[in-house]
Amino acid sequence: MSLYLDHAATSPVRPEARQAFDAWIDAANASAAHGPGQRARTAVEEARETVATALGCSPHDIVFTSGGTEADNVAIKGIVWAARERTRHVPHVVTTDTEHAAVRESARWLAERGDAQVTFVPPRADGTIDIEQVVAAIRPETALVSVMLANNEVGAVNDVAALGIALADRDIVLHTDAVQVFATRLIDVPALGVDALALSAHKFGGPQGVGVAMLRRGVGVVPLVHGGGQDRGVRSGTFAAALIAACGAAVTAATAQRDELAGRLQALSDMLSDGCCAVEGVRRSGPTSPDQRLVSHVHLMIDDVDATALSLELDRAGLAASSGSACSAGAATGSHVLRAMGQTGVPLRLSLGWTTTEEEITRAIDVLCDVVPRVRTAPVAFAPIGGGR
Ligand code: PLP
Repeated sequence: MSLYLDHAATSPVRPEARQAFDAWIDAANASAAHGPGQRARTAVEEARETVATALGCSPHDIVFTSGGTEADNVAIKGIVWAARERTRHVPHVVTTDTEHAAVRESARWLAERGDAQVTFVPPRADGTIDIEQVVAAIRPETALVSVMLANNEVGAVNDVAALGIALADRDIVLHTDAVQVFATRLIDVPALGVDALALSAHKFGGPQGVGVAMLRRGVGVVPLVHGGGQDRGVRSGTFAAALIAACGAAVTAATAQRDELAGRLQALSDMLSDGCCAVEGVRRSGPTSPDQRLVSHVHLMIDDVDATALSLELDRAGLAASSGSACSAGAATGSHVLRAMGQTGVPLRLSLGWTTTEEEITRAIDVLCDVVPRVRTAPVAFAPIGGGR
């Protein structure tokens, strides 16, 4: 039986979402005036209402996208282009070195084209961002600040609400990538003080290929996708009714079960971390305070092991985990986030989700305890009893 500890990359579809998807797979065009079209439209609007209620914002603030990547792209590029049109200046953007590529590469691409000036704030050694450093990077021409709510690799949670307070009286749009957070933490848009936010359904039990861009009304956004003008003209294209309905169903299920799941995963991730860190040369990275880390993530750095052999052996043992960042097909070592954190060793992200059981965690610990010593590249220094890391 396989062991699935890669929920941060994608989580299995919840039965409620599968049912909603099946119910709307043959939906008519939700923009059509006829009865079948209007019924499909009702499904889309109910999902929009559900998402808005879960986030504490208005349904008018919700735009459905193809996923987290598109939601981040439309926010970063669309807001910068709108600011540029409005001010006739090259806007300045403050973001961080720990962002997912969907934000980082969008910002870098804008800078390369001369459409924006971008400041990347480095993380602390634990992967969190110092909000004061973000505020200090703001200039008179800053139009957008984007700081992720939690990092996808190490699960470090940032104090975006403090940033919201700091920017409250300034004419600067605040965006946050909340893709990794929705499954285990309440996201309260007014409390965070954000103007724009990204979600991805497949991280919390919805299907792949649908996401949410929360774009507060009044925030100028130039669309990336032009066409029939659906979804406020921000995201043209026939509504993906089945995906959107499934996203709404996943939001409902994830919200209803979130507290129970968070409590369960807190205990299971601690158990997993303790079990793995008992192996010499294995340590957990990320923040130490539970407030500052997602209960779904256990990120390990492993000394003196062969990265490729580790990946192969874990796979052979049936353990699905991630040796790179969530969506990159990247190498097993040296992600930009870990480099920015100054981490050394071979990274391994074990991420838990709604299907994770205690029995899986016990077996995962057994696999790690067996595999790590077998893929050593050099002997680990002898540690006296009681003198572990
Ligand atoms: N942002 C973060 C933090 C992510 O972890 C991911 C995917 O792993 C994305 C954005 C992209 O989401 P999607 O796969 O829905 O495009």
